[in-house]
Amino acid sequence: MKLKQLEMKLQRLGGFLRPRASLEQYMTPAPLAARLLYHALLRGDIEGKKICDLGSGTGMLAIGAALLGAESVRGVEIDQQAVAIAEANAALLGADVEFIVSDVKDTTLPERIGSCDTVTMNPPFGAQQVHADRPFIDLALSTAQVTYGIFNAGSTQFIEAYTRQRAEISEKIGGTFSLQRTFTFHTKDMQEIEVEILRLVRK
Ligand code: SAH
Repeated sequence: MKLKQLEMKLQRLGGFLRPRASLEQYMTPAPLAARLLYHALLRGDIEGKKICDLGSGTGMLAIGAALLGAESVRGVEIDQQAVAIAEANAALLGADVEFIVSDVKDTTLPERIGSCDTVTMNPPFGAQQVHADRPFIDLALSTAQVTYGIFNAGSTQFIEAYTRQRAEISEKIGGTFSLQRTFTFHTKDMQEIEVEILRLVRK
């Protein structure tokens, strides 16, 4: 499948019905998700691999990974309503994904999800709750050898310091996150947020 085809398929996915600000529920834009996944595919991190998507939300990244030939895909998401949307989205595109309703902080989770080769994630940026992305990073690094995460632009230094003993950043890809007006505290109809996709490799 070509990058553009993947993007067009992912464009069809339904978004959060009632997005929750406290959980920073923003659907990853299809072009950004396709870019991350296609990059990972070319790197050999998707096809035939076990993928875990943390904070899977609408299923955007998880479903895309399944479409690109992952051996298995699991999505972890705290919000049951989001999981229902993700399941409908997976059915829409005929993607085989198992969604698990759980907090990433749940200590029994690593055992439940088993081993993953590659983690994908678009964790909360920590705008509502400081350091909300840390448990995502911790779980990713304890679960998989390779992690692709979408972070606020300018996070690299922090991520580098936070993961120094455990991982190295092997790649950084710039991108934009077009954010539609979602919550009442948003002042613009559309806002472009600069982000970076980081590829972390466990030491
Ligand atoms: N890739 C997803 C991104 C969703 S935004 C998509 O395109 O839909 C981040 C997601 O993380 C939200 O769905 C939110 O509900 C979930 N989340 C936030 N905190 C969480 C936690 N502690 N454990 C599991 N999921 C969490």
